[in-house]
Amino acid sequence: MSTPPVLLGIDLGGTKIEIIAMDHNGQTLYRKRCDTPKHPNPAQQYTLIIEQIQQLVTDCESNIHRHHSPVGIGIPGSESLTTGLIKNANTTCLIGKPFRQDLARQLDRPVKIENDANCFALSEAMDGAGTNHNSVFAVILGTGVGGGWVINQQLIIGPNHICGEWGHNPLPWPNSDDEPKQTCYCGKQGCIETYLSGPGMSKQNALQFNLNLSSKAVISQRHSNHDAQKAYQQYTLRLAKSLASVINVMDPEVIVLGGGLSNIESLYEDIPAIWGEYVFSDNVKTKIVKNQYGDSSGVRGAAWLNKQQTIKNQQTPLNMPPPATK
Ligand SMILES: [Zn+2]
Repeated sequence: MSTPPVLLGIDLGGTKIEIIAMDHNGQTLYRKRCDTPKHPNPAQQYTLIIEQIQQLVTDCESNIHRHHSPVGIGIPGSESLTTGLIKNANTTCLIGKPFRQDLARQLDRPVKIENDANCFALSEAMDGAGTNHNSVFAVILGTGVGGGWVINQQLIIGPNHICGEWGHNPLPWPNSDDEPKQTCYCGKQGCIETYLSGPGMSKQNALQFNLNLSSKAVISQRHSNHDAQKAYQQYTLRLAKSLASVINVMDPEVIVLGGGLSNIESLYEDIPAIWGEYVFSDNVKTKIVKNQYGDSSGVRGAAWLNKQQTIKNQQTPLNMPPPATK
C-alpha cells in the first residue's frame, strides 16, 4: 500500500516566505521561514523569489525524505481566472506574471495557488476553529477586510474568483453616524472595509470624532476615554450589521475571525448581542469564534489546497503541457 503524499504549503508574504510539510492529518513534519528576496529590479526580484521557493522546497524534501510532493501556495493577491496572471498583489513584482505556471515549471509539478484570505478560511475549516462545522465563513479584519467560504471542507471559489469578498459591499443599514463615507481604494464609497479594517477604523474615528487614535489605542482606552468607548461601540455595531447581512445570504454555522482586530476578545460576546436585530430569524444559531492558528493559517491553508478537489481553471497551467499521469 502506498503512503499518501505529504502536503507542502508555502506562504509568500511581502517580508517572509514560509514553507510547511504536513501529513494528511495536519501534523507538521517540517517548517522553515526565510526573508522574501528584495531587488530594485522587479523582474530580477521575481526570479529571485521563484529560486528561493525552489530552494525551500528542495531543503524541505531532502529533510523529510519525500520527493515530488504536491505544492500549494498562498499569496497576498489573486490569479485571474481569465489570463492566469497575478493581480492585486502587494508584492508588486508578481503583478502581471504567470506566477503559478512559472513556479510549476521550476518545481516540475502542478502548483495550486490561492489568496491569503482563502488559505486562512481553509486552514480554520479543515482542522482549526471551524472544524466540525459544515459551513464556515472566515473573515480577516486587518489592514484590509477579506473573507473566504468553506462548505463541507471544500473551498468555494466561484466563477469570478471573488467568493467571500464582503469587504467591498457597502455598509448595510447605515445611519447618520456612518457619515461622512470614506472613498475606498476600489473606487466606491462606504465599503465595509473602510469602516472595519484597522486603518479604516482609525480614519473613521478621525473624521467623526476628531479622534486621532489607532485602532489599537481605541481598544485599550475604551474604558477610560469617552470617545474611544463610542468609537468601539460603533465598530461593534458596524461589524454586527455587516456579518448579519452575510448570515442572511449564506447562513453559515460558524464565523471565524482572523487578522489583528480578531484579538479583541470582547467582540465574541458583543457581536452576538447586537446581530439578532439584523438577522432575519427569531434565533441566531451561528457561532462567532476566534481563529485557532493565527499567523500559521496562511501556510497551513496553502498546504490544505492539495487536499481540495481540483479547482476549475487551475487544472492545466497555461502554456504548459498537462502533468503526466501515473
Ligand atoms: Zn471598496
